Amino acid sequence: MFATNLDTPLVYLKGVGPKRAELLQKELGISTYEQLLNHYPFRYIDRTRFYKINELNPEMPLVQVVGKIISKEIVGEKQKKRIVAKFADETGTMDLVWFQSLKWVEENVMRGTTYIAFGKPALFGSSFSISHPDLETYPRQTGITGNLTLQPIYHTSEKMKKGFLDSKGIQKLVHHIIELHINEVRETLPSYVLEKYKLISRRDALIHVHFPANTTMLQHAERRLKFEELFFIQLQLLHNKQLRSLKYKGALFNTVGDKVNIFYKTMLPFDLTNAQKRVIKEIRLDTQRGSQMNRLIQGDVGSGKTVVALMSMLLANDNGYQACMMAPTEILARQHYQSLIDLLKGELVNIGILTGNTTKKQRTILHQQLESGEIDILVGTHALIEDKVQFKNLGLVVIDEQHRFGVEQRAKLWRKNVIPPHILVMTATPIPRTLAMTLYGDLDVSVIDELPVGRKPIETLHLYESQRLRMFGFMKQEIAKGRQVYIVYPLIEESKKLDLMHLEAGIEQMRFEFPLPNYQISKVHGQMPNADKQYEMQQFIDGKSQIMVATTVIEVGVNVPNASVMIIENAERFGLSQLHQLRGRVGRGAEQSYCILMSGNKLGPNSKLRLETMVKTNNGFEISEIDLQLRGPGDITGTQQSGVLELKMANLAKDQIILQEARNTVIEIFGKDAMLELPENILLKNYLSKKARAIALDKIS
Ligand code: ADP
Ligand code: MG
Repeated sequence: MFATNLDTPLVYLKGVGPKRAELLQKELGISTYEQLLNHYPFRYIDRTRFYKINELNPEMPLVQVVGKIISKEIVGEKQKKRIVAKFADETGTMDLVWFQSLKWVEENVMRGTTYIAFGKPALFGSSFSISHPDLETYPRQTGITGNLTLQPIYHTSEKMKKGFLDSKGIQKLVHHIIELHINEVRETLPSYVLEKYKLISRRDALIHVHFPANTTMLQHAERRLKFEELFFIQLQLLHNKQLRSLKYKGALFNTVGDKVNIFYKTMLPFDLTNAQKRVIKEIRLDTQRGSQMNRLIQGDVGSGKTVVALMSMLLANDNGYQACMMAPTEILARQHYQSLIDLLKGELVNIGILTGNTTKKQRTILHQQLESGEIDILVGTHALIEDKVQFKNLGLVVIDEQHRFGVEQRAKLWRKNVIPPHILVMTATPIPRTLAMTLYGDLDVSVIDELPVGRKPIETLHLYESQRLRMFGFMKQEIAKGRQVYIVYPLIEESKKLDLMHLEAGIEQMRFEFPLPNYQISKVHGQMPNADKQYEMQQFIDGKSQIMVATTVIEVGVNVPNASVMIIENAERFGLSQLHQLRGRVGRGAEQSYCILMSGNKLGPNSKLRLETMVKTNNGFEISEIDLQLRGPGDITGTQQSGVLELKMANLAKDQIILQEARNTVIEIFGKDAMLELPENILLKNYLSKKARAIALDKIS
């Protein structure tokens, strides 16, 4: 047998073989010793507590009992054949039962021996039994796993269990690897970091995460592995950021020229909020540095991001550059286009629009106008990043509602000019700090944390189905005042048909409550042809209909200041951030606005908490934090696939402090040693160059 090491394929591990190696690869994506060592248990069972037989009750989860086998016999025939052993301690007797592996039990489970039996107790008649117990001789042996008090439980699958790779099986394999190779595990963090944060070595962490000596050691192991995980993400992010600012020159927007000045002095219909002014100043500074700007603007719905974007784009124009603005949907792109034209009164600059619906003919003209520089600002959807779209001199890209754009799409934009354009990402979904640091850790972040003056906070109300009449009464009141109302229905892929039926039924009822000719109802849902959708939207925007019944297609960005009531049907089926987004559709005018959350009469605890949160607060950041606790990071951003959030150990909802420590550490390190040239940082330097090589290879293949 040749010498194995941590890189050895698992086939060569004792107890694996080709079949199981394939299972591990297919089911868990694990193929080397090291990868299996990095497959951590997802929970532990406390094995410090022993129960007496007379203490057992059938509600208990897994328990362990010390006792002696006093008899053992085969009972039943064929399918029902089983081994039943009487197991006794000083308080009573119970049964241990096996239906499978009878031969093994026959040969290995000994009468007269004292065992620890571990399993789920069940009550049959008056006596307890455990089927297929884990048996260990008592007292426990010592050694790495001998004095195990917390038993690791690993993720496996049905297929793996059939191939004898249940949690216990994996535990055995990991144990082999630890016995053979644990001393080859290399430290990845500089020793001064370990010291500063009192972290245990990687080697010890791996031992104790798989086979914790006690709870304290488990905590140390977890903390170490979490820190490491978050640390290297931050190292990569901040390294990228640093590289970008070194490598990419940025367009210089040194002059505030006529376009900005005329707009600001003669066209802007309101005073900017202090937050808007601050963010514009930050953008001004960023674009005079000579390096590329990558800035995220977080501002709650209605905080006035559009004007900030417009002024930044005018700044680009003033300096001889074109700008573009991307929105995630056609409707939004059109609305942005219209808002910009309105704000500029059709003067000052040429604005173009490009979406999936732009005809070939229009497209040809647009392409040519973009290349000649005739168009100053281009608004559009994803269509904008197609390779065919070439600019004369693109200097700034604004991306609205970025979380719908992937990282690759962002990268595509960079290639639109010799000097990559400045990037301004705007999001109305407040993101919890930990997520922002992880997802956007390489961006600078600005926050518009102030709403324009005179905005009245939206009043939110939760009504149960039994209170529906109140809702209709309220709607009538508001419509009588000349206001408009949104009614939103959930639309969930799996129950699309049913949801649409609800929507239709809702409209029926609405027609009854609000008969023509006094009321017009618009209807918008995802199944409709685009043109119809736009027509219906436009009716509502123009005030020709009073009620807009829609599925969540209206979620992001539509702006109808006269709409003052948002009614959300089956509100318990929406996530928090979605509810918050929807609510943000109202409260855009001077009038008091309302959000009514309609729900079924019975609610689970999570739904209840969501609705209560909505009633209690209008603060998007507060809401996002609660959302993160409830749902976890992947669901919130819809970015499970982005890789950034595939954390093995750390949890962004719970590990804020460790994340902050890890990020601070990286910032400190780069502050002292930007190129990682000091000998104490050699591990970090190696990590980054290894990553860079891996990425380069990825690109080649
Ligand atoms: P969001 O940040 O959600 O994109 P918008 O840019 O659409 O918000 O702005 C919402 C509304 O507030 C628009 O009607 C806009 O004209 C108005 N608005 C923006 N800034 C101000 C301000 N400083 N004072 C008053 N109204 C403003
Ligand atoms: Mg907006």
